Amino acid sequence: MNAPLPPEVLKQHLIDPEICIRCNTCEETCPIDAITHDGNNYVVDPDICNGCMACVPPCPTGSIDNWRLVLRAEAYSVQEQFGWDELPGEKPLQQSDGAGAADGVATEAAMPAAGAPDAPAVQLPGASIPPWSAAHPYVNLYTHKTPALATVVGNYRVTDADTDSDIHHIVLEFGSVPFPVLEGQSIGILPPGTDAQGRPHHARQYSLASPRDGERAGYNNLSLTVKRVTEDHQGQPARGVCSNYLCDLAKNDTVQVIGPFGNTFLMPNHARANLMMICTGTGSAPMRAMTERCRRRIERGTNGRLMLFFGARTQRELPYFGPLMKLPRDFIDINLALSRDASQPRRYVQDLIRERAADVLDLLADPNTCIYVCGLKGMESGVLDALRDVVVQAGQDWTILHAALRREGRLHFETY
Ligand code: NAP
Repeated sequence: MNAPLPPEVLKQHLIDPEICIRCNTCEETCPIDAITHDGNNYVVDPDICNGCMACVPPCPTGSIDNWRLVLRAEAYSVQEQFGWDELPGEKPLQQSDGAGAADGVATEAAMPAAGAPDAPAVQLPGASIPPWSAAHPYVNLYTHKTPALATVVGNYRVTDADTDSDIHHIVLEFGSVPFPVLEGQSIGILPPGTDAQGRPHHARQYSLASPRDGERAGYNNLSLTVKRVTEDHQGQPARGVCSNYLCDLAKNDTVQVIGPFGNTFLMPNHARANLMMICTGTGSAPMRAMTERCRRRIERGTNGRLMLFFGARTQRELPYFGPLMKLPRDFIDINLALSRDASQPRRYVQDLIRERAADVLDLLADPNTCIYVCGLKGMESGVLDALRDVVVQAGQDWTILHAALRREGRLHFETY
């Protein structure tokens, strides 16, 4: 067991700027607003952070899990951290009386923190561990300093041409460069060029849309689902740097890739495991990867049940609508929630979860069921409310089930 730290020593929480992909997940997750950012880095304010660890499991890269032992009076300031290109090295602790390294604390610095003793427990909506039978994921094999080079072998639109949703299916091939991935993982793309401050663009994160053996099995390739961003969150015209770069790529262009990322949003690997997949728009990417993994194994007869709730504005804006409809009905139970179809009232995925309460309940009762939610941030609470309603209306206790789903790595969220 680690000895308690002397009061003048701080186990300072830092973010590794070389691995961080600036996805904002940590800043959104931190319950006490200890994380902030400028145009360069995401950083942790040592005066606010209480070591509650809430930000650690959701970080897709693990860049958040860095700690240094420092004297409180000499903690790295927010301003100092904004200027970093890399983390400072480990330094022996110099006590203010000049006595040298504090006994028993200097070697702790590289270890993940166990959380500050007084930090409040933070309840995440989903699990912070993968399902027990998930395969081992590789992470951070390629970084900003050592990206892998991939070649574009396919780029085509998967929504109707006359709609506003310009969503592309992009296939990248790695040739002889090893790039092992699992369904549910993501990669980072480094767009070329510089930002307004003249600094190279940071990586943008995209979930894999293909299964572990590739979009085309055996060719060391993978696919992404990318929506061209043409407006900001307020609806004002804005050109997304990386999405436009990717959607405009031509065959044989090369792309710098980092990652892979993610070690929890992974599918179970045991026979008869059921998947409940809930997504909106391009959040369908990991669901396509998992579904395709199962489809390629239909003959084995080991798949459990697959139930999909998929939300989009209209059928014409729903990525992969054609191929999805061709899947056998006894293989996957498909439920489409269309929010802007003139011929029917607005429906969200959570409405369909309530409509299908009996079947949802049946799946929830099976300990072999894993649930995946991916897409818009706003759906997170809506989906949790819908699942809770289904359980409570059946006279069961949602709090107990929710805790079990989290503890057993069976409920996963990836929302932006
Ligand atoms: P979108 O077209 O804006 O929305 C998809 C559907 O979700 C629409 O029908 C929308 O309805 C509905 N919706 C809006 N608010 C909702 C809520 N609170 N609950 C449930 N449904 C709601 O979706 P998108 O632009 O494709 O965005 C998908 C999200 O997935 C993005 O945030 C993206 O960052 C994220 N994502 C992408 C990837 C990837 O690899 N590309 C991976 C993971 C996550 P209305 O708009 O009609 O209200």
